[in-house]
Amino acid sequence: MSLTARFSCLSDYDPDALSVEQARSFIRSQLTPVGTHERLALRSALGRVLASDVIAPFNVPAHDNSAMDGYALRHADLASGDATRLRVIGTALAGKVFAGSVGAGECVRIMTGALPPAGTDTVVIQEVVRVDGDHLVIPAGQRAGQNIRLAGEDLASGRPALAAGRLVRPAELGLMASLGCAEVSVYRRLRVAFFSTGDELCSIGTSLADGEVYDSNRYTIFGMLTRLGCEVLDLGVVRDDPASLEAAFRDATAAADVVITSGGVSVGEADFVKPLMAQLGEVLFWKIAMKPGRPMAFGRIGGGERAAWLFGLPGNPVAVMAAFYQFVRDALYLLMGADPAPGVPLLPAVSSVAMKKAPGRTEFQRGIVSQVDGHSSVRPAGAQGSGVLRSMSEANCFIVLEHDRGQVAVGDLVQVQLFDGLV
Ligand code: AMP
Ligand code: MG
Repeated sequence: MSLTARFSCLSDYDPDALSVEQARSFIRSQLTPVGTHERLALRSALGRVLASDVIAPFNVPAHDNSAMDGYALRHADLASGDATRLRVIGTALAGKVFAGSVGAGECVRIMTGALPPAGTDTVVIQEVVRVDGDHLVIPAGQRAGQNIRLAGEDLASGRPALAAGRLVRPAELGLMASLGCAEVSVYRRLRVAFFSTGDELCSIGTSLADGEVYDSNRYTIFGMLTRLGCEVLDLGVVRDDPASLEAAFRDATAAADVVITSGGVSVGEADFVKPLMAQLGEVLFWKIAMKPGRPMAFGRIGGGERAAWLFGLPGNPVAVMAAFYQFVRDALYLLMGADPAPGVPLLPAVSSVAMKKAPGRTEFQRGIVSQVDGHSSVRPAGAQGSGVLRSMSEANCFIVLEHDRGQVAVGDLVQVQLFDGLV
């Protein structure tokens, strides 16, 4: 079934008034990973997506070991309800096996990570005992098995430690290293071509003529794609004429899995971008109930071996970034093989100002969130026009005002989506 037919099947989806959630879920439902697999040395896998499960070849930890510095002993030796006196017969160090075993009335000093000596089953932390020469006095109330990490407690041998589809972050690198993985199987990098359209655009390095603006979208798009780990192909500013646009789409679809354009998809735009997209592929033109970023094109462009997914983003610099983060990021992760695409949670914050908002569209205001008196407080970051890129630069979050929400009063709870996290 064609993309257009699949979209028309959705009875409550109106292309001229699509909610953010509808657009997101339709895009998501159409995408499957595009890339082939490759094996890489562990460190090179950072930022990639696992193409197959990583199976634990052994238990982690491999052996029972002490979780604390203290004394290993036999729980059965401890008097119930009273202190117990045991003789210390040696020390068990991490990385060494304690020679000999521990008999009745004996115990061994043990370091974190050391294997409990034969005969012992419990570790008492050093802070609660009293040392008396070569003896130890242990207070009552110790639980059998306490402070011992069990073999296989973190990862059981033969079970998947990481599933295919997992994005490799620093924690995954460390986890795979702990399993002795020197190489991993990952999806190849996603290739994304992009260009800007609009006769008023000028590339940096040349001087501006009257009425021209520098093309900033190619730089934000470059930055966002590079952060996602995509291979990028910058096709520059493309003049708004059919021959130049067709050549750009041809080059883009020949080289890339995904093509991202900015500009020319607005309502009532009298140029060639939309007709060309429609002619070269199967493209849906949407008006999304959101601000900024109302117009967007989504579809397949080119044919056969030379087909690519298309995201036609609006031209306004803030709209480009909002549409990218709200739709394209998720889509690229799915095409990269991530399952599920890593989400960015919405967190509550108290609005320190009143905000105008009409029900019927989702707004992504640029906000500054900070900690005030133990709670998160948020305010908009300056002028909110969709061309004011400075608001994106000064902000540290989107203030997400939901579709059905009306005005925001001072002190109301709103949802924020942080720009940066721990990476
Ligand atoms: P459009 O969606 O093509 O109607 O563009 C909307 C607004 O965004 C216009 O003011 C354009 O000049 C501006 N714009 C479009 N593309 C870019 C770009 N690549 N860099 C900076 N501004 C742009
Ligand atoms: Mg334009």
